[in-house]
Amino acid sequence: MATTHASHPEAARGPGLPPSITPDLLERLAARVSAAPHAVRVTTNAPYTGEPLADLPVSTPADVEAAFARARIAQRSWAATPIDARKRILLRYHDLVLARRDEALDLMQAENGKTRRDAFLEVVDIGVVSRYYARTAARYLRPRRRRGAVPVLTHTTELRHPRGVVTVISPWNYPLSMAAGDTVPALMAGNAVVQKPDTQTALTALWSMDLMYEAGLPTDVWQMVIGPGSSLGGALMDNADSMMFTGSTATGRRIASDAGRRLISASLELGGKNAMIVLDDADIEKAAEGAVHACFPSAGQLCVSVERLYVAESVRDRFVAAFVARTEKLRIGAAYDYSMDVGSLTTPSQLRTVTEHVDDAVAKGATVLAGGKARPDLGPLFHEPTILTDVTPDMTVHDHETFGPVVSVYSYRDTDEAVARANATPYGLNAVVWTRNGERGRAVAARIHAGTVNVNEAFAAAWGSIDAPMGGMGDSGLGRRHGAEGILKYTEAQTVAHQRVQGFHPPPAITPERWATLLTRALKVMKAVGIR
Ligand code: NAD
Repeated sequence: MATTHASHPEAARGPGLPPSITPDLLERLAARVSAAPHAVRVTTNAPYTGEPLADLPVSTPADVEAAFARARIAQRSWAATPIDARKRILLRYHDLVLARRDEALDLMQAENGKTRRDAFLEVVDIGVVSRYYARTAARYLRPRRRRGAVPVLTHTTELRHPRGVVTVISPWNYPLSMAAGDTVPALMAGNAVVQKPDTQTALTALWSMDLMYEAGLPTDVWQMVIGPGSSLGGALMDNADSMMFTGSTATGRRIASDAGRRLISASLELGGKNAMIVLDDADIEKAAEGAVHACFPSAGQLCVSVERLYVAESVRDRFVAAFVARTEKLRIGAAYDYSMDVGSLTTPSQLRTVTEHVDDAVAKGATVLAGGKARPDLGPLFHEPTILTDVTPDMTVHDHETFGPVVSVYSYRDTDEAVARANATPYGLNAVVWTRNGERGRAVAARIHAGTVNVNEAFAAAWGSIDAPMGGMGDSGLGRRHGAEGILKYTEAQTVAHQRVQGFHPPPAITPERWATLLTRALKVMKAVGIR
């Protein structure tokens, strides 16, 4: 939460900031915000301790307008920059992120409260995304010959033009992945970007942009504004040529309706209530270990993490025993090293939601198999990884996204029931299937209403398959990141068709009737010889 004061009575328990987060670094990053010189300032708090962390200028709608005006000018020369030069910048950025990873990890942990292991996955993600689009963009964007209306006589080419200036709005849960992951392909496609990260994790986003400048990107091509969505959303939307939004379904709907009003494209990555199915032939120990990795990364504040677990009745007790035993062994706490398994929640409002969901479930008869409590002894925003059972539809946790370290375990009789219950949600982001039989697992996966399904892995198999699309069905979103769609959505397709020798009107020597007969014959021949 961004406030002007430390907001927790438990403030200052836990480690102080790591030495890499110096006043100089904080000042340099704050100076990167697109805001007027005497802007109002906002203070963020470090989740581990509740102590003040960043002091950032707050942008106004006029600052957003100014950022777009600069971006529009810069975009023209950026789009004219040869793709090889763009590629070199991206590959340099890749190297810089890896070389300075400890600085990135410190910032992510300080702002978000996640463990170092969870933060490291974001560094890996950005390495993968920047390498992939640096190396594939030329192939995706090059002009493509298409079959012409009349073979030989029509020379048809599909071109891809950048959309212009893209607005990227990102949340706080994966500060580096969400800030840079969707910006990198937009830049490679020749767009400029004006971005609004969540204020709570703006330092990591600014750091990432700063590294891209160091790698050679002209500064006006990627700019960042900071402030509440309620005050900047209008200007970000009114000026955008395309919209990339990641966040809650509620905000996504608003963005989609604004995009409809303006008739601009919008790619929306939204919430989920992801299911994992443990089939009766699963390796129970591996499935239990997999469940830990599926449910509790970044303290459950991961859009693709699992909150509903369906276990075949015949293996339910063995699975639950193994899952609970592993969960109880997890080390929870604040440390700027790799020693912890579960970190802190990020904001007081997240802790409130998690506590409310668990308390509501328990009050209505749910059983707590592991965890169940906040841990103020560890820091102001810690909550134990929590496993619930006997969860019923009247409980909030049954259908609503908790976005915290809470999972409900249900059992089922047969696979049809498991699939039906996994699909009984308006969301459709990610799912997991656990089985010893890969073919069976893939067949069950194909029946699940979710944009990605992982077989025998928590989420990284699908997320890390960068060549394939990633995104949500139903209330979990519109559009996809990664793969071809992840870059082509930032372009406008244009078809240029050059008609040679003979056009579509009959030549003067042929009557319209004769022309119709000839064209009809031509169509029959084309079908007969197998032309598409
Ligand atoms: P949120 O919608 O409240 O905020 C996300 C971003 O949108 C923030 O930067 C916020 O400032 C901005 N915003 C809020 N209102 C706005 C408005 N009216 N106009 C413009 N911008 C506005 O989401 P949150 O609660 O902070 O994030 C958590 C949610 O994000 C969860 O539901 C989670 O599942 C989802 N999420 C989805 C993905 C995905 O890839 N599908 C990834 C991460 C998080």
